[in-house]
Amino acid sequence: MIDLYSDTQTRPTPGMREAMARAVVGDEQSNDDPTTRELCARVAALLGKADGVFMPSGTMCNLVSILVQTRAGDEIIVDDQSHIYNTEAAGAAAIGGVSVAPLRTPAGIYTPEAFEAAIRTPGRTAPRSALVSVEQTTSFSGGSVWRLEDMRRIRDIAHDRGLIAHIDGARLLNAVAATGIPAAEYADGFDSVWLDLSKGLGCPVGAVLCGSKDFIVEAWRWKYRLGGAMRQSGVIAAAGLYALDHHVEQLGRDNAHIRLLHERIADLPGLAFDPTAGQSNILCFSVEGLGVTAAEFARACLTEDVRVRAIGAYRIRATTHLDVDRAGVERAAEVIRAKAASFLSGR
Ligand SMILES: *Cc1c(COP(=O)(O)O)cnc(C)c1O
Repeated sequence: MIDLYSDTQTRPTPGMREAMARAVVGDEQSNDDPTTRELCARVAALLGKADGVFMPSGTMCNLVSILVQTRAGDEIIVDDQSHIYNTEAAGAAAIGGVSVAPLRTPAGIYTPEAFEAAIRTPGRTAPRSALVSVEQTTSFSGGSVWRLEDMRRIRDIAHDRGLIAHIDGARLLNAVAATGIPAAEYADGFDSVWLDLSKGLGCPVGAVLCGSKDFIVEAWRWKYRLGGAMRQSGVIAAAGLYALDHHVEQLGRDNAHIRLLHERIADLPGLAFDPTAGQSNILCFSVEGLGVTAAEFARACLTEDVRVRAIGAYRIRATTHLDVDRAGVERAAEVIRAKAASFLSGR
């Protein structure tokens, strides 16, 4: 099976499992787990932040960032394909009493001008615009990479207008691999930022949320309150440390694999690609021109042991990761070509 469903499909490697087995552990809830502390310090340094906290998931990183930095009745600004808006079970609204203003974007990247226009004029009747989130790289918008200068302008506008600037950095290191710009440059001046360990880094679980010392004190309170405090979490934190040592470099390979896949299928009649296609490790395309739904197309590929994900009526998403090699990508491209051709001729 060539599994391009998501970069969450990786299995821990033998080396990672060994590191997990050897982990020195303590009680995380009392801040006594040395391996977890080391992981948080490593990621905080990588992101240029004063402190970090280990979280069970990226979803909890986003939620806690919102809970700490907003209050009920506030509004946050995100893109309309963002993870926060679409796939976090409306946590910001359900738990924080916060509404979400989604910006319509072509590829998950809104302009600083569109963001500024979405900020509410303070008054008695409007919600208070409290936080803006930038998803670097974008997920459901096809792995597009934000330009550093746009992120900085958004950050500066946010701060000028009294908003918090947040980065959903689930795949921030894929952006780093794509551009060579250090993670701390992207994160510079942002109030909160996190990395997912369970995506391209190949860990079974976990994410690290970073920010100022004060922010992390409050983030810890919410982590505990939401049931996210752990005990001997060093066992899973060790996987994160292992990934930072061994799996960061191959993110560039994953990005290259998506470029290869894109090259191999870009000319197919009936497939439509975003202008930002091929920027990182995710490729989205529409199969509407083939006269089939995304679900039908994904099912057809699966009969040839290639798994892609239907993420809309006609939209397919393919994601490369640690467990897919170049031969696998070439085979996936062949299967996509063959299936597209057969749907086209069958119309
Ligand atoms: C996966 C993902 C999340 C959530 O992370 P989990 O660890 O799956 O909870 C948030 N944002 C983006 C952009 C993601 O891709």
